[in-house]
Amino acid sequence: MFGFRHWRRQRILRGGGVDEATWLRAVKRFSFAMRLTGQERKQLRDLVVLFLHEKQISAAGGLVLNQEMKLGIAIQACILVLNLGIDYYDGWVEIIVYPDEFVPRHEIRNEHGLVETDETSYAGQAWLRGPVILSWADVENAGDADGVNVVIHEFAHKLDMLNGAANGFPPLHAGMSREAWARAFTEAYKDLCRRVEAGEDTDIDPYATEAPGEFFAVVSEAFFEIPDIVRETYPAVYAQLAQFYRQDPATRELPREWRLEGRGVRREGKGERGKAKGCTD
Ligand SMILES: [Zn+2]
Repeated sequence: MFGFRHWRRQRILRGGGVDEATWLRAVKRFSFAMRLTGQERKQLRDLVVLFLHEKQISAAGGLVLNQEMKLGIAIQACILVLNLGIDYYDGWVEIIVYPDEFVPRHEIRNEHGLVETDETSYAGQAWLRGPVILSWADVENAGDADGVNVVIHEFAHKLDMLNGAANGFPPLHAGMSREAWARAFTEAYKDLCRRVEAGEDTDIDPYATEAPGEFFAVVSEAFFEIPDIVRETYPAVYAQLAQFYRQDPATRELPREWRLEGRGVRREGKGERGKAKGCTD
């Protein structure tokens, strides 16, 4: 099975898939990609080619998707698995993109057995063994070095869901300690909750305090986009993420033109952020 798959993937990669000019235009939009070495960027490109081959990215709500838009989504999704491999996204195929924030019309049975309609609008969703749903308006705004990235957020949920619901505890690699992970994340989560409650302006998006699963997804965004800040604020969490993603982005240099732009501007007035849905139906 592995042999055949490996052979098939090698054949897809030999076919190329993305021409050089389009690739360069797409990749230079992303601060995290510009930090990579030439070899790492080549690795990212291979993953992107496989990702576009294996996943189905479709538009909804009147959006028209072109190759460059799909490429942008794939680049952001693949940075998470740069050193993990595309198999980490096995078990589902669909990515659905809406023009803007979307309101999934599904009904929720509350604790009294009454049916309520969830009217919340979302920038993104990740379904257990199901699709990733994204708002293009939010995807388009991602990529700056500001620590906010809806694609990284939703795909971090996907990795978290490899062992069930998105609870901030993805399957750890051999040699990693569950205790060390739990300790690092619990302490940081409590600290951020305390700061947010005290009205502090935090570098890590306060949305992280919604739940431990959201904390993992939000610090994953920050890990790739503002890694030095994560390392400085929550060094133990940074160390765990570096082991999990098998990457150490804070040691990668951000090109000068990105540094001059500073950390970018956080978008104001943002609605509800992407939420993980652990539903199977
Ligand atoms: Zn989320």
